Amino acid sequence: MSVNAAAAAPPEDGLVPYDDESAERYRRKGWWSGRTLPGELERAADLHADRQALITPEVSWTYRQLFGNARAFARGLVATVGVRPGEAAMFQMGNVAETVVTYLGCLLAGVRPVCTLPQHGAREVGLLARHTGARVLFTQGDFGGGRLLGQAEELLAQAAVDKVVIARSAAFEGATGYAEVLAAGRGDAPLPYLDVGPGGIAVFQLSGGTTGLPKVAPRLHEEYVYNSLAWARAMRYAPETRLLYPLPIMHNAGISLVIQPAVLAGARVILAPTPAIPDLLAAVEQHRPDVLPLMPPALAIRLLAAPQVRDADLSSVRDFVVGGQKLPGEVAERLRDELGIQVRQMFGMAEGMFLLTPAGATEAVRHHTVGAPISPGDEVRILVPGTETEVAEGELGELAARGPYTIRGYYRAEAHNRSAFTRDGFYRTGDLARRHVTPEGTFYSIEGRIKDVINRGVEKIHAEEVEELIGEHPDVRTVALVAMPDPVLGEKGCAYLVLEPGAEPLTVASLGEHLLSLGLARYKLPERVEIVDALPLTNVGKVSKRRLREDIEHKLAVEAAGEER
Ligand code: AMP
Repeated sequence: MSVNAAAAAPPEDGLVPYDDESAERYRRKGWWSGRTLPGELERAADLHADRQALITPEVSWTYRQLFGNARAFARGLVATVGVRPGEAAMFQMGNVAETVVTYLGCLLAGVRPVCTLPQHGAREVGLLARHTGARVLFTQGDFGGGRLLGQAEELLAQAAVDKVVIARSAAFEGATGYAEVLAAGRGDAPLPYLDVGPGGIAVFQLSGGTTGLPKVAPRLHEEYVYNSLAWARAMRYAPETRLLYPLPIMHNAGISLVIQPAVLAGARVILAPTPAIPDLLAAVEQHRPDVLPLMPPALAIRLLAAPQVRDADLSSVRDFVVGGQKLPGEVAERLRDELGIQVRQMFGMAEGMFLLTPAGATEAVRHHTVGAPISPGDEVRILVPGTETEVAEGELGELAARGPYTIRGYYRAEAHNRSAFTRDGFYRTGDLARRHVTPEGTFYSIEGRIKDVINRGVEKIHAEEVEELIGEHPDVRTVALVAMPDPVLGEKGCAYLVLEPGAEPLTVASLGEHLLSLGLARYKLPERVEIVDALPLTNVGKVSKRRLREDIEHKLAVEAAGEER
């Protein structure tokens, strides 16, 4: 079925491979199987062929039906679009069945999905296509009122991609329809996938923003399979398990907490079309899921605020996992007191390692830590920031990780890799963490970060990327983007601007227009603008973002107090 290249194929261009000693150990321990991602997914799908695989408001498919479609799509891709195994492909698709078929179809065709979101702007998609060498874009025609169609046309016109496949609406001239691809691939011709060996790149996940060189996490066949398996085991996924997922599936969380582990375990995935609370509650009542594998704190807060939740029947849910952003202790307590939900927490990242609070852990562990790594192969260090020295036990420091599913380097980012990884291959997360050694076990809490990122309800905004584009505005002399607290989303972006003499003050709206015209995703737009005469500096002459954060926190507190009076 596949062309099997030698397992010891030379490393691909731009890929930082695992060192031989680690790879040998991961295989000896049975964590790595020596098989590819599509191979493992197909095996599982065949084993569970008649079980329910995927439910959306429109489809209810068994594994046979899901993989029948994915196989047809894989063949059709080669026949109609002319993609070749080893190519990368861009995605702008939401939570619909076609996205799952397209993702799996790509894997079965040996094509490497680049997990871009439908929320990304033309700028991000174009830059990431260039970085990964992708030439094809899969887009969802009816997403967000059809706005992705114009963006796909723009990307084609700019030659950022040269092929577009459109699902769920008519294809414009020069694009190919999803149905056409599917129809061309019906039959039982052998699948095209090229097996580059288990150490080859299967999927590109995204990390940082797109300033200068984008940070793309190349996920390799063998380790990505193991990531999904380790999660499925930690969460006790089984054929009876019903997972409900409301966040965008084309993201590392959607792929490795939901789609892949569900296939490997033969479990059922229910895709909520949007994270809106009415959709979510309707799906809970209709499908009675037992696992919500990832609820961002913002969604949990919205759930608590929704009047209809008091009458909803949430009794089917055994695992309510919160993660992606810091969970405030009082939200965990309100979920317990008002909805009878015992939360578990997880910490995840596109680069690999997942932490999870164990089932049955005490409340102290579940409410105040993100738990422990999910694999015995995960190694964690808490480093004095900027060094390779570990902090004293129990002190706060930078979380660093290495293990059988944590990348050893970003794709084609040699210079950046020298600072993002320790010399012995630990990935520096940029998160501040503390280790807690307790009689129950060793757990970690996340207590801040040193990277310049705003975590807006789990969507990450890399300050530098937005600052660079704000800096292109002719009226802006200097800019600093900082996080301001938000009661629901956790954080939002606030832009401090120093304007050119005589310039008209920029507003949230006019600055937003400027950024959208440059193709930036809407979720990255600053939600408050502060015009100042100068930015505060640290004693080494850098902009003091700490002082700006304190300033905006103070302003918000004063405003809130004023509103209360
Ligand atoms: P991503 O690669 O988009 O999944 O983002 C990974 C980053 O999200 C981490 O490096 C953290 O900064 C943040 N993150 C993920 N889970 C948590 C959590 N449970 N608590 C605090 N921050 C988190």
